[in-house]
Amino acid sequence: MTSTLLAETSVDAAPAISSEPAKPSLVGLTRAQLAEALAAIGVPAREHRMRVGQLWHWIYFHGVSSFDAMLNVSKTMRAQLAEHYSLTRPQVVAEQISVDGTRKWLIRMNPVDARDKGAEIECVYIPESDRGTLCVSSQVGCTLTCTFCHTGTQRLVRNLTTQEIVQQLVVARDMLGDFPGQTPPTDGLIPSGEGVRAVSNIVFMGMGEPLYNFDQVTDAIGVLTDGEGLSLSKRRITVSTSGVVPQIGPLGDASGTMLAISLHATNDELRNTLVPLNKKYPIRDLMAACRAYPGASNARRITFEYVMLKGVNDSPAEARELVRLLKGVPAKINLIPFNPWPGTAYECSDWETIERFSDIVFNAGYASPVRTPRGRDILAACGQLKSETEKLRARARLALDDEDEQAALSATEAPSQQPLS
Ligand code: SF4
Repeated sequence: MTSTLLAETSVDAAPAISSEPAKPSLVGLTRAQLAEALAAIGVPAREHRMRVGQLWHWIYFHGVSSFDAMLNVSKTMRAQLAEHYSLTRPQVVAEQISVDGTRKWLIRMNPVDARDKGAEIECVYIPESDRGTLCVSSQVGCTLTCTFCHTGTQRLVRNLTTQEIVQQLVVARDMLGDFPGQTPPTDGLIPSGEGVRAVSNIVFMGMGEPLYNFDQVTDAIGVLTDGEGLSLSKRRITVSTSGVVPQIGPLGDASGTMLAISLHATNDELRNTLVPLNKKYPIRDLMAACRAYPGASNARRITFEYVMLKGVNDSPAEARELVRLLKGVPAKINLIPFNPWPGTAYECSDWETIERFSDIVFNAGYASPVRTPRGRDILAACGQLKSETEKLRARARLALDDEDEQAALSATEAPSQQPLS
């Protein structure tokens, strides 16, 4: 494992540290929110559409971190924007790089109000030779308590805003040198080649239940898929839910993305234990919602995630029951070897058991890839996203506090200096 603390060498676009209150960032806003920001500084309504178009292009297509780089925006307008707003990103507090190239970033969000100290979330990047997948979070912590999931042991702090969800991609692209003119890092696998983007796919499988933060998540998907900016394909975005049945149909209508269901059991009794939300929305209702998911077809299959837990849900009978359950649903099944975490009562199924399970499902006509565990050495694998980095976090925080102190000191000594960034 390579583990790199970035606190002392924060990324280019890290938020400015100043004794002045931080200016709100425009990065991560929707078009409507950008128009509101313009209105708030007196830009006439007749200019909003054109100005938003300009900002959109520079922020999301070029990924600029300074208003000065916005060459087709007048100097006066740039100065006006810079006086009131910034283009800061949340700060990457620490980066860990797995031996398999997986990267995990500990990201400190900019405070949303005076009481907020800035939420910390983790974001994982999984590179393959021809694509790169970013696993994003939708909440800080989680209200659900899936018993196999490390994140589920962390209480919910709050929902992430649309801006914070979008910023995860912007930060990732900064870190990977994925905006035009940037240089990719050389320490680790980054997919490259004609037309290959470092981040080509997004999965909402990080911290939190995305459908409990519906509006912010669907608005964020709108920004991520806007063809004039970040321009990700809807088919390359997957929203994973533990089964918030009433919101599944609306998700398809509002976003048109791919759907994944965190299933893990084939009967209500076991699923009530593994995914307690099942008590509210049992398997029958969940499957009905999947059958009705807008746009689902053999070309756009719903992914069913099934974590392999030794002696719990991994018998051949359960594999056959899974096949029966999915009848009539355009489905693929993702078998996930359990990634143990400190304090868990579960173990991963034996390899032969996983293969036997996979064969039964495959022979019934379903694709059933066994997901290769990625980033295990840095606890970035599925279900492990709780900040096992607590120690790392503490060290990083110390380093940041030092940095804050230094900044405050130099601000007192030399008030005319620009804020550090
Ligand atoms: S699996 Fe997802 S919904 Fe369940 S506890 Fe973990 S983060 Fe929350």
